[in-house]
Amino acid sequence: NLSPLDLARDIGVSSEEALDILKVAWRTKAIDGNSPKGANLLAGAKTAWDLLCEEKTMKRIVTFCEDLDVILGGGICRKEVTEVGGVPGIGKTQLGIQLAINVQIPVDLGGLGGQAIYIDTEGSFMVERVCQIAKACIEKLKDIPCTSERKVEECHTKLKVDDFLSNIFYFRACNYTEQIAVINYMDKFIEERDKVKIIIVDSVTFHFRQDFEDLALRTRLLGGMSQKLMRLAEEYDTAVVLMNQVTTKFSGGSFQLALALGESWSHACTNRVVLYWNGDNRFGYIDKSPSLQSASAPFSITTGGICN
Ligand code: ADP
Repeated sequence: NLSPLDLARDIGVSSEEALDILKVAWRTKAIDGNSPKGANLLAGAKTAWDLLCEEKTMKRIVTFCEDLDVILGGGICRKEVTEVGGVPGIGKTQLGIQLAINVQIPVDLGGLGGQAIYIDTEGSFMVERVCQIAKACIEKLKDIPCTSERKVEECHTKLKVDDFLSNIFYFRACNYTEQIAVINYMDKFIEERDKVKIIIVDSVTFHFRQDFEDLALRTRLLGGMSQKLMRLAEEYDTAVVLMNQVTTKFSGGSFQLALALGESWSHACTNRVVLYWNGDNRFGYIDKSPSLQSASAPFSITTGGICN
């Protein structure tokens, strides 16, 4: 079993490209022959070594706030669901837009060269903001040297705000049925576009907090949706970022922040980041992760988007 790192070294391609080549090979192997149902799953068995190589070669999506990227282990992880919670105005949408832009940083400037899906349930996505943040991103990238053999100027002059806009696929879900329908449609949509590397749902909770009297139905619908999102992340190597709202709970004599949707939702994500205010400053906190330490980092929002 060849690892992506070995293949990259042997044939002189990047480790990301090697991983893509191996994935095609793994899939072909699994589908080959009249294999019975379930054979794909068995053929896809990997060793912990394979998983480590995959993790090492899987580039993360940076936020452009260095401290936040450090506590996130380099940025938002693909193949995983990351929940971002916080009070209104803390910057969840700004972070979502920033990630939709940063996922597009070209490969020869150290990025993923990907595309983004933005599922807007609250109507808070502003194209004007996307233009401002994309413009600032192009400026920031001017300081980054080009790693390919292309001329350095060529790397940078190719970057255009319009291209950043056309690589974000926007869906507006006006109620929870539309939200579920859009998420169910994602398989087909991503299969036709292999560059989608992030799906942002802003916010996942909004429609489920409005007039939902049948709580058992709500739990069932949310459970189905979270499983679907986890599978999308795993199958298409995309990051899934779910924005969540915060409620205040009175407990132990004081008000405490609690993420909306309660305990039944708490297993729906792999990582959870809580954005909060400390005085006039914004912070991000790793609240839950199977691999990252709990830690806080300050971040700011300017006209140019998320920064230190
Ligand atoms: P949330 O989604 O968590 O409710 P937002 O992502 O909409 O919050 O963040 C809104 C905040 O982002 C504003 O209150 C403001 O502080 C900041 N913000 C938005 N646009 C700009 C801008 N052009 N320049 C600087 N800060 C901005």
